[in-house]
Amino acid sequence: MSFEFATAGRIMIGPGRAAELPEVLAGLGSRVLVCTGADPGRHAGLLAGLGRPAAVFPVAAEPTVELAREGAAAAREHGADAVAAVGGGSVIDLGKAVAMLLGNGGDPLDYLEVVGSGRKITRPAVPCVAVPTTAGTGAEVTANAVLASPAHGVKASLRSPLMIPRVALVDPELAVSCPPPVTAASGLDALTQCLEPFVSVRANPLTDGLAHEGLRRAAAGLRAAYADGTDLRARADMAVCSLLGGMALANAKLGAVHGLAGVIGGTADVLHGMACAALLAPVIEANVRALRSGPAGGAGHPALGRYAEAAQLITGQPTASIGDGLAWIRETVTLLAVPGLASSGIRPEQAGDVAAKAAASSSMQGNPVTLTDGDLRAIVLQAL
Ligand SMILES: [Zn+2]
Repeated sequence: MSFEFATAGRIMIGPGRAAELPEVLAGLGSRVLVCTGADPGRHAGLLAGLGRPAAVFPVAAEPTVELAREGAAAAREHGADAVAAVGGGSVIDLGKAVAMLLGNGGDPLDYLEVVGSGRKITRPAVPCVAVPTTAGTGAEVTANAVLASPAHGVKASLRSPLMIPRVALVDPELAVSCPPPVTAASGLDALTQCLEPFVSVRANPLTDGLAHEGLRRAAAGLRAAYADGTDLRARADMAVCSLLGGMALANAKLGAVHGLAGVIGGTADVLHGMACAALLAPVIEANVRALRSGPAGGAGHPALGRYAEAAQLITGQPTASIGDGLAWIRETVTLLAVPGLASSGIRPEQAGDVAAKAAASSSMQGNPVTLTDGDLRAIVLQAL
């Protein structure tokens, strides 16, 4: 056995704890760049009481290379030596990118995977405090920041364990105002980000425990948080699910759902979590079929045992089969009103191209079994 595990230096979680942001920042920097969503006014109370010079950088859209450049320029102009990111996954990713650029110098394209010039991230990012306002991406504890590069027509990551935020400050009350479609998309992403590391070929004993508990939390909170956004217990379950999924995926990788969803996100304007939700059941079916076509019908393959265990966790039934788990996922996707990929403009003739690009993605390295191009194409067609 040989593995490694990295996560945020400090994790704080609980209703109302966002109010502790000023004290958290006190030990980390004297001037701060605060990244927020499009409307910083939503966090006016929090921003007014920071107790140190703060510049606000609103992130109105999914982060791009250009936006990361602008964020870093704003931070340098302000003389920032710390970053706070208060928002959803896009805001936190942008904050992580800026903190890395402040620590390492240079331009996002020096470091960006796939299309960048391959410069290594060698120095720590400046301290970054991530305060998520949605429960889904786990970006508060992951090592990458996804940036779109419209010039290249792709989304790619800046990635290094040095980019994991110094502090994850998770306050479930911040998600109470999330509208139902965002709760659905982010919650199904969180569920997927616990399941894929749980069956990953890169799973390790630490990620196993985290993913196991994350799946239990998704079962308790996902449908309830969607049905009643003010249900603080359900919001807390999903905040924990998202956090645990982020910790697991950063150390055990993901699988075919994220391999495909990443490519689809670069192709069409679709919420990441919606793409994951549409792909989840078809991917499980294809993986299970491929595993069972192996030696002795897949008998003893650890991933089949994991899929059954996951089914028991999400259904709450100790005797549930993989089929029962699939039925629960399909029912949840319907209850949460998640549309197929066709509604985002993905067309059947794009399936081959999506499959070919996804096969080469970083996420695909965690999939428990190698899927053929034909398998991946069929999954995309099923998810339409
Ligand atoms: Zn995801």
